[in-house]
Amino acid sequence: MFEKVQNFIVMGKSGSGKQPRVDVLIRRFGLKQLSTGDIFRHYLGLFNVLNVEGELSVFFDPTKDDFIADAEIKDRLNITAHENAEAIVLGLKAKYYVNQGRFVPDRITNALFESAFQALEFKGAVLDGFPRTVEQAQFLVDLANRKGVKLDAIVLVENEDELIIGRTLGRRICKSCGELYHMEFRPPPNPGECVSPNPVCDVVQRSDDNIESLKKRLEEFRTKTRPAIEYLKQAGIPFYSVPGNLPDYSPARVEASVCEILGLASTSPSV
Ligand SMILES: [Zn+2]
Repeated sequence: MFEKVQNFIVMGKSGSGKQPRVDVLIRRFGLKQLSTGDIFRHYLGLFNVLNVEGELSVFFDPTKDDFIADAEIKDRLNITAHENAEAIVLGLKAKYYVNQGRFVPDRITNALFESAFQALEFKGAVLDGFPRTVEQAQFLVDLANRKGVKLDAIVLVENEDELIIGRTLGRRICKSCGELYHMEFRPPPNPGECVSPNPVCDVVQRSDDNIESLKKRLEEFRTKTRPAIEYLKQAGIPFYSVPGNLPDYSPARVEASVCEILGLASTSPSV
């Protein structure tokens, strides 16, 4: 089992402890992380370098409730011959929604994901943050079938809401150097103070680490992502649930938490 791994899907609530498990799979199987956050940053970045001025609504046709044709967008942006033209158009479409503070629709997220997955030739990825809805899950299963690639397993990092809330609300970050803190596990030396002696350093709470947006993210997971997980299971993808909460987070313990569930021998000394 898991000898010729092509792709893993790691899922879990925001703040459940996904990243350390993603890291284990990356090291173990030589995979690359394909995270929606990174994908959005990449495609928005490709578009942003064009420094397009003015409202992006000129690229949207409200009578069709859709964007104008891709060829027309490329023509207006003067990028028809650009090697990244397709990707830039995707970046523009995502940005159109981001600028309005709206959710990016699944069809746009799917297109961005496919483009990024294609760059890896649809193999060797740990999917992180995708799929997040049933529609995205359907798209992923269809895409894998069309391309003849395997989705080896779903690894769900399970953690209780109460634990996630406590842990997330305690997080602090230095605005200047990015140093991470936690009021319980790694408090800053003094309130607002960073370990770095740099006078511009300032330790704060991230703006989306407040109870309202956290509860909203947890609710999204319950109503949209849980059904997506069910869809993937129904599609026959092997499912593994990994405990997100551990007595301690030593690298060996984190690795063992994944390896035991997947039936892999741990490479670290026993814990
Ligand atoms: Zn700092």
